Amino acid sequence: LIVSLTTEAEPAVVERALAGLGLWVRRLEADGRVQFYVEPGSARVNAAEVSRVPGVAWLAAEPSPHPLVDAQGPAVRVDDVSIGGDAALVLLAGPCSVESETQIHGIAERLAGFGVEFLRGGAFKTRTSPYSFQGHGEPALGWLRDAADAAGMKVVTEVLAPAQAEVVARHADLIQIGSRNMQNSALLAAASARGRPILLKRGMASSLEEWLLAGEYCLLHGAPAVVFCERGIRSFDPHTRNLLDLGAVALLAHVYGLPVVVDPSHATGRRDLLLPLSRAAVAAGAAGVMVETHPSPADSASDAAQALPLDEFGRLAHAIRSGPTAAAVDVD
Ligand code: PEP
Ligand code: MN
Repeated sequence: LIVSLTTEAEPAVVERALAGLGLWVRRLEADGRVQFYVEPGSARVNAAEVSRVPGVAWLAAEPSPHPLVDAQGPAVRVDDVSIGGDAALVLLAGPCSVESETQIHGIAERLAGFGVEFLRGGAFKTRTSPYSFQGHGEPALGWLRDAADAAGMKVVTEVLAPAQAEVVARHADLIQIGSRNMQNSALLAAASARGRPILLKRGMASSLEEWLLAGEYCLLHGAPAVVFCERGIRSFDPHTRNLLDLGAVALLAHVYGLPVVVDPSHATGRRDLLLPLSRAAVAAGAAGVMVETHPSPADSASDAAQALPLDEFGRLAHAIRSGPTAAAVDVD
């Protein structure tokens, strides 16, 4: 954004007024005229508000590369559940993979009792190794849907390929795009064309701008809403699986005004960090938290090290819903 001043304006006075709006500016002078370049780290304020500052003549703004995302707003609805804005914190939980029909029914029942809105679980899994469990595929979608219906929950599950978009959309309320596919534009288009909202996980090496543009693909191709999901980005330190980028969460929530949920499970790869980072996510502005939980983590067909036992998940759910002042809960 470029802010041009009137000839009579006192630049220092205008600069202070702009700083009061949260705009940090660099002064540009040409032909005796002063203009301010608004630094990218500034707050997002609407143009009309800037125009009203005394001494401002006109504004020149670059068109946004993601106008549909900008227009979406902080709250979206998935069926009768609101995510973001003034809505209550939303919980999305379940196993990494849907392992069996009886198991997912048992999990759903427990999670519904903890007030979880969305049952998660992969039917089609994106695994780093081709030798790892790849999911039970289409039958697992049916098990997941039935289990969620029986427990009064919504379904969130991942689509891996355009050819699966139809069947996934038939079973899911919220379609998940995984980290490894965030920039797969053909998949974003196919999944979005089914008319369901999208849970867009951040690519593990993607910038915020790339993430927002992936969201733009979804909205452009027919998704009624996009919920962003921070799940950690690549780092140099092997102590955690990824690095949970809470700065990006705060930016999306507070600066861009978008619904964002946090997945501390894939971000850390460790069950012992899920409670503190779920709390931190909520404090940073997350509208929801997605956690992997399993009745018997050691037997989990995928991501065993990060799966939280169901009863511990129940304590986590209670703790993060009770707010930041609640007594610390020991999950060990
Ligand atoms: C998942 O949530 O099941 C998953 C595979 O996560 P990610 O895409 O973030 O690795
Ligand atoms: Mn997983």
